Amino acid sequence: MTVLGTLRSAPIFEPASGEEIGRLPFASAADIDAAVAAAAEAATRWADVSLARRAATMFDIRSVLRERATELADLIVRENGKTREDALGEVARGLESVEFACGIPQLLEGAHSSNAATGLDVHSVRRPLGVVGAITPFNFPVMVPLWMLANAIACGNAVVFKPSEKAPSAPARLAEVLVEAGLPEGVVTVVHGDRDTVEAIVDHPGVAAISFVGSTPVARAVYRRGTAAGKRVQALGGAKNHMVVMPDADMDAAADAAVAAAYGAAGERCMAVSVLVAVGDGGDELVGRIVERAGGLRVGPGAQEGVDMGPLVSREHRDRVAGYLGQAAADGAEVVLDGREAPCAALPGFFVGPSLVDRVAPGSPVYDDEIFGPVLSVVRVPAYEDAVRLVRDNPFGNGVALFTRDGGTARRFARDCGIGMVGVNVPIPVPVAWSSFGGWKASLFGDAHMYGPDGVRFFTRQQVVTTRWPEF
Ligand code: NAD
Repeated sequence: MTVLGTLRSAPIFEPASGEEIGRLPFASAADIDAAVAAAAEAATRWADVSLARRAATMFDIRSVLRERATELADLIVRENGKTREDALGEVARGLESVEFACGIPQLLEGAHSSNAATGLDVHSVRRPLGVVGAITPFNFPVMVPLWMLANAIACGNAVVFKPSEKAPSAPARLAEVLVEAGLPEGVVTVVHGDRDTVEAIVDHPGVAAISFVGSTPVARAVYRRGTAAGKRVQALGGAKNHMVVMPDADMDAAADAAVAAAYGAAGERCMAVSVLVAVGDGGDELVGRIVERAGGLRVGPGAQEGVDMGPLVSREHRDRVAGYLGQAAADGAEVVLDGREAPCAALPGFFVGPSLVDRVAPGSPVYDDEIFGPVLSVVRVPAYEDAVRLVRDNPFGNGVALFTRDGGTARRFARDCGIGMVGVNVPIPVPVAWSSFGGWKASLFGDAHMYGPDGVRFFTRQQVVTTRWPEF
């Protein structure tokens, strides 16, 4: 274990050029102590601010964030690599969580029983937790923080926020924008760092709860560590999302959806489709249509006009993704589209072109592992039951999509599949902001899903007040 307190830092890269564009100083142990102390002070004052005032602040945050959307999107593009359009979409989806939190007075309404026993009244209230930790991944540097921050602050908490060290500038700017919009200083404090920083936040006695999003091994570790210390933890992990295409599906719509969901954001989305399950004998036709469309995608720097797909986030990640393509061929799968040979692979940034691996065998690394890159695996199965078995047996349970024209099949699939978020003819079924987001199995550790009503429950605890006022 590295000793916190020595000043550490890490390079920040621009994935599109492959160049180092800055260095990120990490918080020391003393910085984290100071951040928690400042947050504790801010939390006490902020929790006393009226619901009406907190709601008004959320409305102001919404307005100012809308004004800063392009500035935030540009920072996302620079350090994450996704396209500008995608980055703007990310900010827009994050804003939906802020819009949800504008309704905080209603969301926190409690229940009241008058004369519950003779002369006795009972009411319930939801109180903030105090200081909470928010730890986020590189792939949505603004949206995932807003999933957490919007509800956490609207509920009256203060947040110690640790964004990903791989794309730190947009979340750091987001925190500044919150203050510009009127959020009191100290309600959100950013601390930069890596594993040591996360562990220091999770272990800190002044932090009451942890909201985490990242990869499954880290989510599991953070969940165990936090709950062992008696804290409330929600830890969302990785995914391996299947898209099942029935023989009766609209094949053009399915091919369009597969291309958008597998290669959008270079596959660096926890709800990306990474396995296509072709049911029956339509596999050749479907693969043909996907390959044709994928071949037409324009790959390049995300800031460039007209680009459909940008680079991966880091050199190590690019090499790891490329390694799966070599492994797939060695395992006997058919690498139909090899992103290592795409023209973009010759660019100086961290590029791999859209890739498709056909006839992938469950049990091989390309099927089993979360690759988190633009690699679509195709598994062919004879019947619906085989497809359901694949999906059910997968250890991840974030999202799944079914493409069919048959309502009965769709209805049954939603019940059979054992996955937290299901799309019917919708490839990326991310729930709207008032309907919480959460996978099952190894995609989420804890009881509470993210944002929406579950977010409000997570960032508050219920208190019941029993009252007797003698009448005369
Ligand atoms: P990551 O797990 O490497 O990092 C996430 C956060 O944890 C970062 O802030 C990082 O600094 C910190 N961290 C890294 N290693 C740690 C360790 N050993 N101990 C404690 N903290 C550590 O994830 P990433 O690469 O930034 O993001 C991609 C992953 O996030 C993918 O697996 C993706 O599926 C997942 N993700 C999930 C969701 C979801 O909603 N389920 C959403 C977005 C991303």
